[in-house]
Amino acid sequence: MKCSYLRNILYDLWDILAHERRCPACEAVYVPCEKREGKSLFCPECSSLLPRREKGYCPGCGEPAAWPDLPLAPCLRCLARPPLWDALVFHGLFQGLLRRLLLRLKFNGHVTLARPLGLLLARHPDCAKLSVDCVIPVPLHRSRLARRGYNQALELAKPLAAALHLPCESRLLERIRATAPQTGENLALRQRNTRGAFSASSHVRGIRILLLDDIVTTGATMEAAANALLEAGAKGVSVAAVGRTARIGQSA
Ligand SMILES: [Zn+2]
Ligand SMILES: [Zn+2]
Repeated sequence: MKCSYLRNILYDLWDILAHERRCPACEAVYVPCEKREGKSLFCPECSSLLPRREKGYCPGCGEPAAWPDLPLAPCLRCLARPPLWDALVFHGLFQGLLRRLLLRLKFNGHVTLARPLGLLLARHPDCAKLSVDCVIPVPLHRSRLARRGYNQALELAKPLAAALHLPCESRLLERIRATAPQTGENLALRQRNTRGAFSASSHVRGIRILLLDDIVTTGATMEAAANALLEAGAKGVSVAAVGRTARIGQSA
């Protein structure tokens, strides 16, 4: 009796040691729990701080509504001029822990965060509903790529594309003009800043693309990139981002 009790404790200990992980956000050691969509990506505490935005936003551009519980409804801007893309998916608002993680990924070289964040987005139920043939990350201009050393959108696109069983095609879209860092929510300024900034390969002709970025603010960058893809003959563009800016004054 005593022997089997001890054996069970040893098995439990082995189970914990064999399965424990370090949370990529807070570095705490935890035992991932099995969820419907796979093993948890962050510790329980960090997972609870990374909620998916399910309601209360514009399905066209992602602009948050005044209250998170409001049903999805197009904003005035999208009603007046529907976006170029067929669908938009994002995980959550660019605030709190998600904001800190995306900034660490983008500016502090924490490239290892790209995998859990890319998978977090891939687990959005709307990702499974997208009709797309490949994932294209929003490219950086080569001067910024040389300074940063990596493109955070590409690093997010790799695990996301693998999880969705799609190819990741980072060479089909190029940023041909360096744009000033974008701050604020001024759409007209952002549009002027990004217009003509992208060039797409003729190989996009006839294919449906999921355009991926780390953060979407006004959608001006996505719009310029989607426009280049559609002008080059893409059959359709959907867009996805891990975070969507919360309100005026926050930058991406
Ligand atoms: Zn954690
Ligand atoms: Zn909108």
